[in-house]
Amino acid sequence: MRVEEVELRQLRMTLEHPFETSFGATRERRVTIVRVRDGRDAGYGEVTAAEGPFFSHETYETAWHVLSDFIVPWTLGREFASPAEFPETVRRVRGHPMAKAGLENALWDLAAKQRQVPLWKLLGGVRPRIACGVSIGIQPSIEALLARIRAELEDGYRRVKIKIKPGLDVDVVGAVREAFPELPLMADANAAYTLADAGLFASLDAFGLTMVEQPFHYDDMVDHAALQSRISTPVCLDESIRSAEDARKAIEIGACRVVNVKLGRVGGHTAARAVHDACAERQVPVWCGGMLESGIGRAHNVALSTLENFTLPGDVAASRRYWARDIVEPEIEVTPDGEIQPSPDPGIGYAVRQDRIDGWTVRRRTFTA
Ligand SMILES: [Mg+2]
Repeated sequence: MRVEEVELRQLRMTLEHPFETSFGATRERRVTIVRVRDGRDAGYGEVTAAEGPFFSHETYETAWHVLSDFIVPWTLGREFASPAEFPETVRRVRGHPMAKAGLENALWDLAAKQRQVPLWKLLGGVRPRIACGVSIGIQPSIEALLARIRAELEDGYRRVKIKIKPGLDVDVVGAVREAFPELPLMADANAAYTLADAGLFASLDAFGLTMVEQPFHYDDMVDHAALQSRISTPVCLDESIRSAEDARKAIEIGACRVVNVKLGRVGGHTAARAVHDACAERQVPVWCGGMLESGIGRAHNVALSTLENFTLPGDVAASRRYWARDIVEPEIEVTPDGEIQPSPDPGIGYAVRQDRIDGWTVRRRTFTA
């Protein structure tokens, strides 16, 4: 395929509910959409960089800059036999995986549309249904959290992830476990602790969590290995895993027993596949994390989650859990028993709502070859 045109857009979208983690609360989102054209079809990707440099160093503004001034100019007019060639094109850019992923994933959607196949099949997916979990942000009270979990279970979701931070951890997990003794439950610390808190994590062993996610510093592996050797709950790494090499090293030193794969964090479908494979070779299961995506990023997450080693429910939930109105049609829905069926249609399998994209655009730039 030859890249004839790339369009970048920033949309202003408002979440249904504020989402709070140990980084702070988010309500207004600035969603960056990348559209790639080959002259006939259009492919879509989403940049998952957030409003502030807290989950990662990237923000929607750094991604706009790196895409506009480097990544897009290097891609325009290029001929790709496969989108898997894209990472080599942008290898000179160190870091900025979310900016790279936005464009690479648009190329994957385009390639699947050209071949008239669903993206999940082009990626090598094997799962006709994916199991869905939910990630619940920090709530104002334990009562509010329990009510929120009850509502999610009624909607069919199969596993619940709660966010913890210092001061809102052991008591919160204990209260949830007491109310829901059988629930597959995990806790995400978003790097809010240090090895000095190992005793706190050892006390969480009593609650039978399926895993504890990223307790320590965002680029640490060594202290995570020390923690994993002291607790029975599996450690899952998120922020610390930026590549297949990171996954290999983390597993080899015993820093984790589960890996969260995020397209933006690792730099697109090609890198995500490599992380998946590195984990599969070492019998480490993976699941797909979420970044408060619009329907476009969400559809890419659904496609990724159909790969064989995605054996654990991810944070891939229905559109309406996040947005009153989404930018894809149909919206992404979860069945009453908590599954998403990947679309049989070509590409990401969901049409974009151009009227809503136009209405919510706050910034736009088009580049032509
Ligand atoms: Mg996480």
